Order: sequence, then structure tokens, then C-alpha cells
Amino acid sequence: MPMNEAATTDSPLATVLINRQALRHNIQRLRELAPASRLIAVVKANAYGHGMPEVANTLSNASTGTADAFAVARPQEAFALRESGISQPIILLEGFFDSAQLPRIAHKQLQIVLHSLWQLTALEQAHLPQAVRVWIKLDSGMHRLGFPPQQIEEIYARLCACPQVCQPVNLLSHFSCADETPDSGTTYQQLTCFNQSLTGNTTVQRSLAASAGILRWPQAHFDWIRPGIILYGVSPFDDTRTGADFGFQPVMTLGSRLIAVRAHPAGAPVGYGGQWRSHQATRLGVIAFGYGDGYPQYAPSGTPVLVNGRQVPIVGRVSMDMICVDLGAGSQDRPGDPVIFWGDSLPVERIARATNSSAYELLTRLTVRLQYQYL
Ligand SMILES: *Cc1c(COP(=O)(O)O)cnc(C)c1O
Repeated sequence: MPMNEAATTDSPLATVLINRQALRHNIQRLRELAPASRLIAVVKANAYGHGMPEVANTLSNASTGTADAFAVARPQEAFALRESGISQPIILLEGFFDSAQLPRIAHKQLQIVLHSLWQLTALEQAHLPQAVRVWIKLDSGMHRLGFPPQQIEEIYARLCACPQVCQPVNLLSHFSCADETPDSGTTYQQLTCFNQSLTGNTTVQRSLAASAGILRWPQAHFDWIRPGIILYGVSPFDDTRTGADFGFQPVMTLGSRLIAVRAHPAGAPVGYGGQWRSHQATRLGVIAFGYGDGYPQYAPSGTPVLVNGRQVPIVGRVSMDMICVDLGAGSQDRPGDPVIFWGDSLPVERIARATNSSAYELLTRLTVRLQYQYL
């Protein structure tokens, strides 16, 4: 039948499978862990590679598992969310980059994180269609972005006096080492610094914890938690633990297919540079996937991949469009058979360790070549 033929030829090679049920489960799990806090779903960088509009849509329409707000890093990401019909509050984690963006930000009712005096001045001098909600970014010890603790009172007073700003004003900070075990004491110091800023002011809403803070530091939950990677079921820690160890489910399964299976003699090199050689005669699988799809080029030989559900090692260098794996001498795999790079049965955290990378980077470096399927 022509329709079946079309379906076969069009069926995608490299696919990102997104399990919306897992996403809802993870929201529920976060509610359990931080029952007194509201939840800001961090969907920057295309929702950590999961597809921002679809993820936000899943988390805003469902009768269960709804986020109270969303956060992104760039105004363009927030505008795209509004275009796709998201009506919840959206927080710009670095505020605006140019004062010319302010009228549109106000018009779209985006909330801004204010980290610098130049932004405050721009806000005071702006003519806006409506007032904007502001989160003051406190530099509690990360020393990347934000106002030092001794400046917070003054910034707060200026924001309270600014007609372009919705009242009350909120307070936000970010941990630099909440993912480290054992903790060096930095997180405790940051927590103390955060608690001491605008103390006694009960109108101010507070937000401090991202994924690692949510899992390890319950005293950092405050009014709003800001989960990113754990929302996608992936652990923020760079040890052997995975999201499942904390009761979360991986949302993404990344896969492709074998396009060739080859008899390979002992001692022959494989791929660019010929760096890997087989010790014995074997069968090699060639997978339609490479760094052009987002797999790390530096993944060493031995990095695991699932072929027909069985773990096999990558051999030779990852190329732009292809990856070779050693299927083993007696293997029966055939062209067209399914391959999984990470997902339920092979956590992305494991690939992060094998490639000396991080799950954050692996997820966000997926390229436009991939096709997304939402379950
Ligand atoms: C990215 C980001 C988050 C989410 O971080 P995760 O570690 O992925 O949970 C939270 N807050 C800020 C300010 C961020 O930039």
C-alpha cells in the first residue's frame, strides 16, 4: 500500500522520544519533596533539549502536574512561550539584555530577574505599557551575577519607589556548589546570606533552590523552587546516582537505527584515524547518528549504546553522521534494528560519566536534525 510505503520511508532515523507521563510524574514527585513551595519549571535551552513548546504545554494544560510558572534565560524563549499560548508567569532568569526589550517584556507580562545597576536605571527611565514583576538577584556567593548582600536594601528601596515595578518585589539567588558531596560549607554560607537579606520582610517572595538544592537542601525550598534538570528525570549530581534514585523518571529516550552490519576481521582499524582495532573477528554495526545530531565527538571507544536492548561498545571515533559499535562475533543484529543512546534502560547520567561530560551538556547539545515524538 502506498501509505505504508510512505510511512516506512519517512519513519525517522534519529528520534527524540518524549514521555509526557514521566514529566507529569516528575512534577508530582517535586510536589512531594517541596509541598510548601510553588514550582517554577525551568524550560530554557529548548527545555534541556526536550522541546520547549511541547514541554511547557504539557505542564500547563494537564489536570495533574501543572507548573505554577516557567523560567527561561532569553527574552526570545519567553516570547516563543507566549506565542505558543502559555499564560502562566514566565521569569527571565537574566532579565533583559537591552532596555529596548522592556516594553515588549512588560506587554507580554514577563517577570525579570534584576542583577545589575544598569538594568535598574533602565527600568527607572523606561516608559512601559504596564508595570513588570521583578526578582532581585542576590549574589549570595556564586559571584557570577547579582547584587552583593550589602546593596540589597538600597536596590529594594529603589524598586519599591519605581512605578514601572509591580509590588511586592521578590528575592532570588543561586547556589554554586549545592551539587557537591561532601559539602564544603559554601551552600550553608549562601543559605545564611540569603536568609539575612531583607529579613523580617514578609511580603517578599523568595526563591533559591534549583535541582540540587531541592534534593539536598530542604531548608532552601522557600516560596518557589526552580527545578531544571530533575524535572526531566535526570540527576543534577555528577556521581553514580541517577534521577531514578530520587524517585524521578527519565523523560527522554534518544535513539536511531543500524544502517549497516559488517563482518570485520581481527586487527583491522575502524573509522577516522583508525584508532581502534578489533582483537578478533567480529561484526560491526554502523548507526545513523553522530556529532551532527548531538552525540559527543569525544566519546571514547567503550561508551555504551543499546542495540536491540543489548549493551554494546562504541568503537573508533564518532563521526558527524555515523557511529560504529562492536556487535560481537555471533550477533544477529540487522540493518534497521533499533538503537538507544540514552533513556529508561541506559541513563544519560551514565553516558555523561563515560564521556567525562555532564548530563546538562549532553541534553542541551542535541541538534536541529533530530525528529521529536511526544508520547
Ligand atoms: C538553569 C537554572 C536553574 C535550573 O537549574 P537545574 O540545575 O537544571 O535545576 C535554576 N535557576 C537558575 C538561575 C538557572 O539559571
